[in-house]
Amino acid sequence: MKNQPYKILLVLCLLVAGNQLFAQEAVFDTIMNRIHQDLQSHTNDKKLAEAVAKTNATLDLQGAWPDLHYTNHEFTHLERIIDMAAAYTRPNNKWYGNENIRQKIVLGLQSWLEKNPKHRNWWFNEISYPQQIGQLLITMRYAKTPLPQALEQQLVARMTRKLNPGDGANTSDEALHYLYRACITHNQATMDSAVTYSFEPVSVRDDEGGPQVDNSFYQHGKQQAIASYGRVWIGNSISAAYYLRGTTYAMPADKLAILSSYFKDTYLKTIRGNFYDFNVRGRGISRKDSMMSSMSNTIAKVQLIDPANNDYWNAAYLRVSGKRLPSYAVTPLHTHYWKSNYTLHLRPNYSFNVQANSTRTLRTERGNNENILGKFLPDGATNIQRRGPEYANIMPLWEWDKIPGTTSRDYATDEGSTVQKEWGIPGTTAFAGGLSDSIYGISVYQLAYDSVKANKAWFFFDKEIVCLGSGITSISPEPITTTVNQCWLQENIAVGSQKDKTNLQKEQTVEQYSNPKWAWHDSIGYFFPTATNVQISNTTQSGNWNHINNFQTKDTVRGDVFKMCINHGNQPASATYAYIVVPSIGEGEMKKYALSTINILQNSDTLQAILHTGLNIAQIAFYRPGQLVCNGIRIQVNQPCLLMVKNIGKPNFSMHIADPTQTITELQVAVQQQKAKTKNIVVKLPSGSYAGQTVRAF
Ligand code: CA
Repeated sequence: MKNQPYKILLVLCLLVAGNQLFAQEAVFDTIMNRIHQDLQSHTNDKKLAEAVAKTNATLDLQGAWPDLHYTNHEFTHLERIIDMAAAYTRPNNKWYGNENIRQKIVLGLQSWLEKNPKHRNWWFNEISYPQQIGQLLITMRYAKTPLPQALEQQLVARMTRKLNPGDGANTSDEALHYLYRACITHNQATMDSAVTYSFEPVSVRDDEGGPQVDNSFYQHGKQQAIASYGRVWIGNSISAAYYLRGTTYAMPADKLAILSSYFKDTYLKTIRGNFYDFNVRGRGISRKDSMMSSMSNTIAKVQLIDPANNDYWNAAYLRVSGKRLPSYAVTPLHTHYWKSNYTLHLRPNYSFNVQANSTRTLRTERGNNENILGKFLPDGATNIQRRGPEYANIMPLWEWDKIPGTTSRDYATDEGSTVQKEWGIPGTTAFAGGLSDSIYGISVYQLAYDSVKANKAWFFFDKEIVCLGSGITSISPEPITTTVNQCWLQENIAVGSQKDKTNLQKEQTVEQYSNPKWAWHDSIGYFFPTATNVQISNTTQSGNWNHINNFQTKDTVRGDVFKMCINHGNQPASATYAYIVVPSIGEGEMKKYALSTINILQNSDTLQAILHTGLNIAQIAFYRPGQLVCNGIRIQVNQPCLLMVKNIGKPNFSMHIADPTQTITELQVAVQQQKAKTKNIVVKLPSGSYAGQTVRAF
């Protein structure tokens, strides 16, 4: 009898252990159920039934589809079986519980196992196939008659792969199929790995693949990948947090903060309406429909894991789903990402974003025969969006040496990069960066690429963006052009030329203007304050996706394009340009627009500066130590820098400074206002990962 208390304790322990085990099993099922619901959401049963009718009819007796080329490793095979499994398990589908479909699923899977296809691209073997198998097995767990156990085990073995930690978006992709497998097998160790590696990439990984200290994103080295690999990462990470929410595996608060901040403050800000800035999709720019965000499902998930920011998520959802205008709840914002040479400038009525590159970053990659012609993409490309779809699917018919905003040689036919190396080439100049006070800012890019040099700068205000170029020099045989825009044509173009206003209506023309005052198209005004040779066309352009991406079709696509560029002629030496973009203006307002508020103080090889008298802001790019006198203030710096003065000429003026070279630790500024004594200021600049970030001097 004296052992009795111990026996009771033992029984209690076993009961607790049993309950824990039961609770653990329940967690696996909860997570699997969430994944299943997610996979089955947004399915159209009618369309699915039609697709399955076709694939059901064409699967041969050996379990293969004659139209697929298994030698080159068709992932479409598994996609079709996933569709069959979905149709078979969805109560509202025509094929629900159909025994014939189930037999075809089994046959198709057996044939897949026998063929054991290996793709030459590792991504399919390590990520796509295991994810597809996992999705299929989870779907079949909800079937009337599940798959034979032996077949399921063989497939589980096939999806078991080694996981590669520390690889940003790819690691999150691998962790996702670990999570699928953990739910299928109820294996604790697999679940632990899945959770660990789902969350591992949700950390700021300075200079490696993943989110950066400035809230931009890198992949494939120091290359801006905000909504290319960043899209994979954000999708997987939000899904993992959503599947695991409220369980013992829930995402820790510090990780959730990183995820939420990236999604809210960077990612969703690159979307206008439902369309990405073309600068953030990496080589995916060469894929059809890649400018569409399709983010409503991900936003719906983040609403459940981060309810604290619900007002923001709701507004973003309403914009991407088209239930509200692109301007809805958009507030003024200016952000420069010093790690990625990327600038976001947002106002309720427009987005005007810029992508450059530097010796510290890699140029936009060409890889796997994708983005074949995009060699000028990081050379100061300006994405100007009002409605959202201004550039959606225009890429196959773009003239690729006329990327909006860039200065380059105008080749007779588009050519890919002459450099053999794929996957991102380092930039050639160090003077590339930006200044931001969160509302206004400056971006600069010293171009030296493909035998063309230029100092390009952008000055960002509320209604206007001033674009300056200086030192434009080349000895190449082609003429040099700066492209103001190349986007879908919307109705008419108006031009304010010396004679009078002319309209380019429906007829297709290419017009040269020797000194136009302004041009207007699609509610965007472009002003030319100095003598400029401008070429404007509204012709039909044609091309195909295949010539920019070998995975895409060769079908010809055509469309009418608005294209406007400044011609610097042949072999320019220290040529300049100046144009001012007013991205929200009616045609009727162009003549009387008060451009007098914008003074171009200087546009030389060493200094570019703007004074905005309406806002009382001066913005200066010092390419060398120097000085500028403006509104009775003399400003002198002993190092190259970007400098913005607000309330200039007033006693309460303030000054922001940034170092685009990211090498200067200390800067001396001398300020003399009217006849007052010169004020000497020593400004400490950020270092390490924060070098390039803007500081407020006073
Ligand atoms: Ca050309």
